[in-house]
Amino acid sequence: MTITRADESQQTPYGLGALGGVTHDVTNQPPHPAPYDASDDVALLEGVRREGAGWAEEDLRRLGRLAGSEEAQEWAEQANRHEPELRTHDRYGHRVDEVDFHPSWHHLMRTAVAEGLAGAPWADDRPGAHVARTAGGLVWGHTDAGHGCPTSMTYAAVPALRKQPELAKIYEPLLTSRAYDPGLRVPAEKRGLLAGMGMTEKQGGSDVRTNTTAATPTAEPGVYTLRGHKWFTSAPMCDVFLVLAQAPGGLSCFLVPRVLPDGTRNTFRIQRLKEKLGNRSNASSEPEFDGTVAWLVGPEGQGVKTIIEMVNCTRLDCVMMSAALMRKTLVEAGHHARHRSAFGARLADQPLMRNVLADLALESEAATTLTLRLAGAADRAVRGDSGEAAFRRIATAVGKYWVTKRGPAFTAEALECLGGNGYVEDSGMPRHYREAPLLSIWEGSGNVNALDVLRALGRDPATAQALFDELSLTRGADARLDAAVAGLEDQLAEGSQVTARRLVERMALTLQASLLVRHAPAAVADAFCATRLGGDWGHAFGTLPAGAGLDAILERSLPGRE
Ligand SMILES: Cc1cc2nc3c(=O)[nH]c(=O)nc-3n(C[C@H](O)[C@H](O)[C@H](O)COP(=O)(O)OP(=O)(O)OC[C@H]3O[C@@H](n4cnc5c(N)ncnc54)[C@H](O)[C@@H]3O)c2cc1C
Repeated sequence: MTITRADESQQTPYGLGALGGVTHDVTNQPPHPAPYDASDDVALLEGVRREGAGWAEEDLRRLGRLAGSEEAQEWAEQANRHEPELRTHDRYGHRVDEVDFHPSWHHLMRTAVAEGLAGAPWADDRPGAHVARTAGGLVWGHTDAGHGCPTSMTYAAVPALRKQPELAKIYEPLLTSRAYDPGLRVPAEKRGLLAGMGMTEKQGGSDVRTNTTAATPTAEPGVYTLRGHKWFTSAPMCDVFLVLAQAPGGLSCFLVPRVLPDGTRNTFRIQRLKEKLGNRSNASSEPEFDGTVAWLVGPEGQGVKTIIEMVNCTRLDCVMMSAALMRKTLVEAGHHARHRSAFGARLADQPLMRNVLADLALESEAATTLTLRLAGAADRAVRGDSGEAAFRRIATAVGKYWVTKRGPAFTAEALECLGGNGYVEDSGMPRHYREAPLLSIWEGSGNVNALDVLRALGRDPATAQALFDELSLTRGADARLDAAVAGLEDQLAEGSQVTARRLVERMALTLQASLLVRHAPAAVADAFCATRLGGDWGHAFGTLPAGAGLDAILERSLPGRE
């Protein structure tokens, strides 16, 4: 064939183009995953019923469909593309310290608050209310993780604030409201409030005893002024913050409103917003306090004891958000594999890809099941069940350590299932991947949580008892599980810092295995015990042994939706 000069314009950079043909046929690319139902997850639905929130199922399904809708997925995408912007001053030079958000952020926030994912369960007497909220977070987490930060802190602030009943009387009804009412105004005049927390300072985050922010009592009892800085304070547009500062009696917890009851702005100078790896939709700031008016929460000198009530709740939310990220990225991976072919067969039918997906599915189910068990314990603990309170104390730290630790490896593997597409922002996978490590950093980094487990064991023997009571429910059901429980008892005796991660990892895996043996189908429980306890496993995902029941695992987790 002779190429004329005119024909040359149709060449691709690599040589002859499809002369006269279409160069941009899109073939073998999956359709958009949305709309889908984020609550379409058997492990989630079974767990919700088991933990006492079956009554919330209809709402959960509705929220799941909304989370998977094109509209909500677009909100998440937009809220992360258009990052919040700090406005320190107004046009005349007055300090305003406001943060502007894209409208999509407000859509996400409004939905989360209205659906009861912020403080609402504290105003709901129905047993299971906290489980329903956690389940809601698991499905709404298919959108954006960033706005999970202020909703989580608002939820978590309530039990800490209850340490100061006269403050709780004013603020609790607003923190538990389902109205999202953004904008800095007098808190008591708003329809709903959001809460943040300020613990971390430049010189120390884990070791908050090094906090230098000073609290000086005023003539009015319970009212102080603060002077100092915070190195990380997320969601600075919240209405109120629980802040740690050094009072004359030691490190204490304070309530800091952004707007004072007389309508003037409290001093809350936002120096800058952090430029972060992920969590881009959310603003994380460095505020400075100078003459900032603050109300004491709990006794002076009991700051850590007071704010730990908040941290207990946000830690559970870290587990929840990691489990949500796992499920979301698994659904994306499954969708891609079903619609993409290579070497003459769909990826979803390729034996090795099935191993990867099944292994991820096991991990996701274990994370979801543990999350809901922890939520059930929290729900029963706040209603006065002391056994569940002891279980919650230890198991939340165990879960926070392990599930958030698995998140980055999980999301990386799920991203890889999409091949090159997974590495491209359009797919959303990079955003989920970047989010994952944060969940193991804040609210106590890995080591801090592992050491917290040792602290719980050392200070309160009821916690170990609660854990072993739980594990005893499956005694005799699986030899590998029995051996793991026995090994744990030996390891507990060691109790040294240097091996704390080993111990907590074993605790987490044994607890997850025990939950799956009790509640999941045999194929799921057996594969989990064989690999995570029995050692019949490689180091990467996708290394389940031959005969691991891949079909049954995949049919349960990602049923055919062609
Ligand atoms: C995006 C983002 C948002 C945040 N938002 C908030 C917020 O709203 N409010 C707030 O108060 N904080 C916030 N934080 C701060 C966060 O809680 C802290 O970064 C975290 O608690 C760790 O503290 P640090 O950064 O001071 O690290 P360090 O305390 O210096 O810890 C560094 C490392 O040392 C390890 N370590 C610490 N102690 C020990 C020990 N005894 N033995 C062994 N290892 C140890 C830790 O596990 C960690 O790996 C945020 C952080 C991020 C990244």
